[in-house]
Amino acid sequence: MIYQSTRNNDLKASSAQAILDGMAGDGGLYSPASLDDAALDWKALLPLDTQGMAVKILSALLPSFSEAEMAALVRRAYAGKFETDELTPTVTVGEDTVLELFRGPTSAFKDVALSMLPVLMTAAREKCGVSDEILILTATSGDTGKAAMEGFRNVPGTRIMVFYPYGGVSPVQQAQMATQDGDNVCVCSVRGNFDDAQTGVKRIFAAVAREKLLAGKGVRLSSANSINIGRLAPQVVYYFRAYANLVQSGRIALGDPVDYVVPTGNFGDILAGYFARELGLPVGRLVCASNANNILTDFLTTGVYDRNRPFYRTVSPSMDILVSSNLERLLFLLSKDAQLVARLMDSLGKTGAYSVPASLKKQLDSLFYAGSCDDEGTKRAIGQVWQQYGYLMDTHTAVAYDVAQQYKAACPGHGPVVILSTASPYKFPAAVLEALGEDPGEDEFKAMERLQDRTGVPMPKNLRNLRERPVRHRDVIEPGEMLSYVLEKAAGKER
Ligand SMILES: *Cc1c(COP(=O)(O)O)cnc(C)c1O
Repeated sequence: MIYQSTRNNDLKASSAQAILDGMAGDGGLYSPASLDDAALDWKALLPLDTQGMAVKILSALLPSFSEAEMAALVRRAYAGKFETDELTPTVTVGEDTVLELFRGPTSAFKDVALSMLPVLMTAAREKCGVSDEILILTATSGDTGKAAMEGFRNVPGTRIMVFYPYGGVSPVQQAQMATQDGDNVCVCSVRGNFDDAQTGVKRIFAAVAREKLLAGKGVRLSSANSINIGRLAPQVVYYFRAYANLVQSGRIALGDPVDYVVPTGNFGDILAGYFARELGLPVGRLVCASNANNILTDFLTTGVYDRNRPFYRTVSPSMDILVSSNLERLLFLLSKDAQLVARLMDSLGKTGAYSVPASLKKQLDSLFYAGSCDDEGTKRAIGQVWQQYGYLMDTHTAVAYDVAQQYKAACPGHGPVVILSTASPYKFPAAVLEALGEDPGEDEFKAMERLQDRTGVPMPKNLRNLRERPVRHRDVIEPGEMLSYVLEKAAGKER
């Protein structure tokens, strides 16, 4: 499988090079040139354990690595890191299946991919014969930053810098990042929202490429955001895991389509579902669930993407995003037209909006359903599911749960539904406590304890004693200062 820029057919790369670079040099994202011939013998994957599935799927999507090489990388990435060997277990909640993606080292679904990315990155560096140190730049709405630092912490040949919106993440997320240890990590908050941080990072990539700002410095940039294809590929695996579990438990027959409901921000997680479908898995509808920042709901309903709208801070902050980067990959894969994508993205940059051709809109309609849920609905869903089923959801999962119920009501012919659960409720304890009818109080750390006392659901180990850990990162900068901040830190290596 060859990769290319979503904006230029002539800009091609091997999968190893695409991982190493993070982003194509023209501002586009690396995407498989086509997924038409990607189908696997998907039925043969279902009896495998999760790591076995990962080996097959990842070596198909990232053919720079042989199956034997991938097997070693997968083992190194996941051994002993997750609560269960299954990595991503499923739980039955009422008539739905919840796919728990948060059983990793930082209690967010991003651990699945960010455990894998560092080993892929170092292997890609070797494959491409690169001796430069790799400086990972990451914008985070809260979860990516922590999971990425945990993954890259003390990985030789790499350094990582994380930018998060000042005041825009939960106190638990903030504490997780500010207390991060490791010799090669740096965390900085930016006075702006997630889009400002993400745009800032994209601009740094463009400026460094254009003006060769790091030439001869022994450092090169890469990304741990889902703009990196090495982030996306590992997420395809759990779609297969959930499907296999449904077959093995007898809830579906082999070949029955299953609908997946995905709480969506940057469109990476749900795009992995599209990849799973193209690899042959019987994926029915992909249901895109948004919070009050429902730009994707509007886009999938109307075909018009328009970011000229208010930005809301919600109780599901990891989805507070107005520019969903991975949508660009979907537009490219569906249209097979890099020129069209370049035009749309140019329009997005200049006017904040674009509109897709009718043929593309039709394709979107057949693949996706979209819905949104505000903070009130989110809390209502958490309270109801706890009362009815004794299952405790985090705020992002609750958005998906609510949209799943909307979807089932709107589409009576739906298949069995898998709801992707993307974070532990203990990452957002105040909102979850409130949803259970309790006063959340002022202190999120006390709220974590109270949530555990109230529900008896055990707090993940990595979130205990967060408050006692020493704060190691305190920098706050303006979005306009990001480039100079990075260049100073990069230069620091030479001193
Ligand atoms: C990142 C994140 C999401 C959104 O995932 P995307 O791949 O960006 O769409 C949803 N929920 C949680 C908890 C997250 O951390």
